[in-house]
Amino acid sequence: MIVTRTVAEFRAARDELLAGGQTAREGLGLVPTMGYLHEGHRSLMRRARAECSAVAVTIFVNPTQFGPNDDFTRYPRDEARDLEACAAEGVDLVLAPSIEEIYPEGACTTVSVGPLSRVLEGAARPGHFDGVATVVTKLFAIAGPCRGYFGQKDAQQLMVIRRLARDLVLPVDVVGCPIIREPDGLAMSSRNVYLSPEERSQALGISRGLRQAEAAWVDGVRDADSLRALVRSEIEAQPLARPEYVSLADTETLEELAGLAGPGALLSVAVRFAGTRLIDNVVLGG
Ligand code: AMP
Repeated sequence: MIVTRTVAEFRAARDELLAGGQTAREGLGLVPTMGYLHEGHRSLMRRARAECSAVAVTIFVNPTQFGPNDDFTRYPRDEARDLEACAAEGVDLVLAPSIEEIYPEGACTTVSVGPLSRVLEGAARPGHFDGVATVVTKLFAIAGPCRGYFGQKDAQQLMVIRRLARDLVLPVDVVGCPIIREPDGLAMSSRNVYLSPEERSQALGISRGLRQAEAAWVDGVRDADSLRALVRSEIEAQPLARPEYVSLADTETLEELAGLAGPGALLSVAVRFAGTRLIDNVVLGG
């Protein structure tokens, strides 16, 4: 596995890796991450490994997707452990750049993905998806992959990136991968390390609430308000949990559903535990 720090190093290593075989546009799978890698990230690497002749991972805590009150400086980092995880998954190439490499002095172009990026996470974290869209566009431009792998854990982010790729006619297939959970149901997240033992145990109310609503939907409950209320009451039963939103929205537009929820509706939540903000979701009907 080759670890690179600059765009030039990355491209040289990529071209050498693919020399004589496919081009990046034909054979490179890209897995963008912010590091502190866990099984969720590793599932993306495995999927890329199975589908692509070469796999590249980026490790970059992207400052532009954090707001002034977000956790950029305290975001967990452990590059040595991350590199071990990448090597264990058979990754060929890693790009772990400095902030200046990705945002050189004077860089002023940003990518903004319209209404999809202004609701839910975008409303709670103004500018967040502009940061995401900008960095993902740059990472696609740097690597030139045929496929980019992203988790359904960040469902809205996945939608924003799909729209970005479509609108800008980027020659990349955006591949969505299922949410990986801890055995007790908590969605894996780099931010779970912030949780105290008590918060960690109360955070289970999130996946429990989503599961209960999903089961109710399977049993025939279709009323959007009732399904949202089910999730909310399970979360609010946890004294340390502060739900920011409980949304049941159209999968294409992310507009809140007013009446009945059909298959494919996205049930998603953001919940605060003191300084830690967790998100999770389920797609009704699978
Ligand atoms: P992050 O490092 O949090 O920016 O995440 C990098 C990629 O891993 C994103 O596409 C995430 O959606 C994905 N990811 C994070 N957590 C999980 C999880 N629990 N299951 C599946 N994918 C995940």
